[in-house]
Amino acid sequence: MRKASKSSVQKAGVGPERMKVIRDPTKMQATANRLRGEGLLIGFVPTMGYLHEGHASLLRAARKRSDVVVLSIFVNPTQFGPHEDLAKYPRDIERDEEMARQEGVDYIFYPEAASMYPEGYQTYVNVEQLTRSHCGVSRPTHFRGVATVCTKLFNLVLPHRAYFGQKDYQQAAVIRRMVKDLNMNLEIAVMPTVREADGLAMSSRNVYLSPDERKDALCLHESLQMANDMFHSGESDAKKIVKAMRANIESKRSARIDYVSIVDTDTLEELDVIRDKAVVLLAVFMGKTRLIDNDILCRGTARRAR
Ligand code: AMP
Repeated sequence: MRKASKSSVQKAGVGPERMKVIRDPTKMQATANRLRGEGLLIGFVPTMGYLHEGHASLLRAARKRSDVVVLSIFVNPTQFGPHEDLAKYPRDIERDEEMARQEGVDYIFYPEAASMYPEGYQTYVNVEQLTRSHCGVSRPTHFRGVATVCTKLFNLVLPHRAYFGQKDYQQAAVIRRMVKDLNMNLEIAVMPTVREADGLAMSSRNVYLSPDERKDALCLHESLQMANDMFHSGESDAKKIVKAMRANIESKRSARIDYVSIVDTDTLEELDVIRDKAVVLLAVFMGKTRLIDNDILCRGTARRAR
């Protein structure tokens, strides 16, 4: 992969003081085509907005390695189930624009749902195996929506590299698989999870939590630490680790487990015995808010999820 060059950026007239917001998908694609024609390297961060430090870390990574940084903000209706929080998903475009400007974003792609899914729309991308388990069980159409919108966004933004967070581990695995299976012409970079000072993974949905739920929500991180400690103390029986994690989470009043699972890092297939590497995945309802988190267990590396 070519390295980003400063002089080509200056030539193209992009930079923080010139950040542009594009709403029209056709215009986004024409702009991306022009930028590519000028030989510029496009880094892309797809989001649903209501930006926080986790998103900012992706923008910083993109800024470091690209000539042009494109951020998309789109609360994608096709990845929400009929009874999920599409209508009340938090939004604050002005704050997002300010944060994007500060992170050196060149273009915000901020389309309307009707322009992404006009009347007559009927094409979806389905990654078969990886989407059946875990979040795919309680959210059966979620990953179809994610894969579809990412395909559309990749076709419109034409990135050389797109940045995703490890926080949504299954999503990153699905996107990687899709890009490989469909021979898409871009690289996927997955960046570490950014946490609040007390360990809670940052998420736009954390604003839904009541003070009590916010306190109890620490059990996600605590149980991941517990898994890590057990693993590094020599425990390799996945069931024993899951049992201890479940007990910790179940001791919190507002917590209801969706799943706690230790799986292969690529296939996401359940493991009985952890050999050198695995990923712990969990989804827990805190009241009505469903939170996810994960951590990689790897022999010979320091403890994670701190
Ligand atoms: P979202 O706006 O929640 O759809 O997230 C957009 C991107 O930001 C996805 O690739 C997420 O995985 C990533 N992301 C969300 N939260 C975090 C976090 N706490 N740390 C790192 N990346 C994150």
